[in-house]
Amino acid sequence: MRAIVVSATGGPEVLAYKTDRPDPEPNPGEVLVDVTASGVNFIDVYHRIGRYPLSLPFVPGNEGAGTVAAVGEDVTGVSVGDTVAWSSVMGSYASRAVVPASQLLAVPEGITAEVAAAVTLQGLTAHYLAHSTYEVKPGDDVLVHAAAGGVGLLLTQIAKLRGARVIGTVSTEEKETLARQAGADEVLRYDGFADAVRDLTGSGVHVVYDGVGAATFAASLASLRPRGMMALYGQASGPVPPVDPQTLAAGGSLFLTRPSLGPYVATRDELAWRASDIFGWVASGELRVHISNRYPLAEAARAHEDLEARRTTGKLLLLP
Ligand code: NDP
Repeated sequence: MRAIVVSATGGPEVLAYKTDRPDPEPNPGEVLVDVTASGVNFIDVYHRIGRYPLSLPFVPGNEGAGTVAAVGEDVTGVSVGDTVAWSSVMGSYASRAVVPASQLLAVPEGITAEVAAAVTLQGLTAHYLAHSTYEVKPGDDVLVHAAAGGVGLLLTQIAKLRGARVIGTVSTEEKETLARQAGADEVLRYDGFADAVRDLTGSGVHVVYDGVGAATFAASLASLRPRGMMALYGQASGPVPPVDPQTLAAGGSLFLTRPSLGPYVATRDELAWRASDIFGWVASGELRVHISNRYPLAEAARAHEDLEARRTTGKLLLLP
């Protein structure tokens, strides 16, 4: 089969395209999938550069969708030919992937494998951030950084579905247009955003969803109202230095959390609930999925270059 292999951490050039990988076999509890599309996520960059260390060599990619090609022992409810999607399974930048049945999601009729590959990981993330990390309520003021990004566009829409006023930040006019189309009520540039948020809200926002990290963290805290919640869920601009807890008192009894997807989909019931909401909203048209770029699998390096250079919006897919 074909796959991207990382043998040494580094720049996008370490994403080597190989056409002679052995075809994998599903073990008990696993399913083999012919991949239609692999989702590109920022965590793939952290893996590639070694910020989240993995043993080498590895096949990157955490997300995809495709057609079941073989079903391992002890797997029920899945048949050859089914369209399925998954997230949080390494090895997804490949033409074939072995996926634990525990991570497998049936893709409902009417949703293509490409759309499923585009919305699974980032959709589940936007869902838990808005429902569980902080439960967004009608009338809440919510700040979403990188509002035209993969998670950002979905989170903006979901926060609007829950009745919030969404303030987004973006770096360009094109991204501003997209964030507004996703429902953002106000869209700011990063420069001076904390003051602008105070001008818009008076006392600050109820929650900041910050996947940008180092560049925005301090101003994000300064954008919160007393007892507001800082959900630092990523670090696209770099890791945040250690924080003195006293900072949270100075800001007005603030909450700080650093959530990741795993604990929010730890049980099959929780995964199924979030996936069913996401796929349901996509099917009904309440949640729009913006796929901005499709790259041949062999050009994974170009996808990473574009993502890191902030040239992209919404979702990027690799097509094997
Ligand atoms: P995006 O599509 O949002 O791409 C990243 C965006 O971040 C860019 O487009 C850019 O938007 C903004 N950005 C700001 N500063 C930088 C910088 N220095 N370098 C690169 N980008 C920058 O990516 P994803 O949707 O895949 O991920 C968004 C964040 O969410 C990432 O930090 C990721 O790790 C995190 N994440 C966390 C999860 C969790 O469970 N904790 C799960 C999934 C994602 P602009 O130009 O508008 O600033």
